[in-house]
Amino acid sequence: MSKERTFSIIKPDGVSRNLIGKIIARFESEGLFVIGAKMKQLSRHEAEGFYAVHRSRPFYAELVNSMCSGPVLLMVLEGENAILKNREIMGATNPTEAKENTIRKLFGVSIGENTVHGSDAPDTAKNEIAWFFAESDLANKQ
Ligand code: ADP
Ligand code: MG
Repeated sequence: MSKERTFSIIKPDGVSRNLIGKIIARFESEGLFVIGAKMKQLSRHEAEGFYAVHRSRPFYAELVNSMCSGPVLLMVLEGENAILKNREIMGATNPTEAKENTIRKLFGVSIGENTVHGSDAPDTAKNEIAWFFAESDLANKQ
């Protein structure tokens, strides 16, 4: 076990349905600490850059539109095995395939509007955090 940081987004479909509190409560109850947070309306440039890895996928334009459709909550979560733990709490990309009691199963609307983003590996976590947060924005939990 090791303490890690991961990057989380509550997507516009989650923010607009007032799910911020429920989602953060779930992270906290599973031992993840919010060490950075900001509400933001993403620009197209930010959403396109953030999801650049998916640029050639058929759903890219829809994904960028949906991420810019309203404010998001950007967060850095810290805890033991935070990256994998967050992915487990989120559930599979497609809410219909997500396990019971995961955030996407409970709240996801569709494969595109699936309520939360979470980093999938240590290198992506580091890059995604750096895309939106300076080290000085983050509370040091140690
Ligand atoms: P995850 O968010 O689980 O890591 P991916 O990295 O594969 O999933 O995809 C990024 C985001 O793109 C997904 O969370 C979802 O919002 C959107 N997406 C993925 N696949 C599709 C699809 N087939 N149709 C529409 N949107 C999709
Ligand atoms: Mg992904």
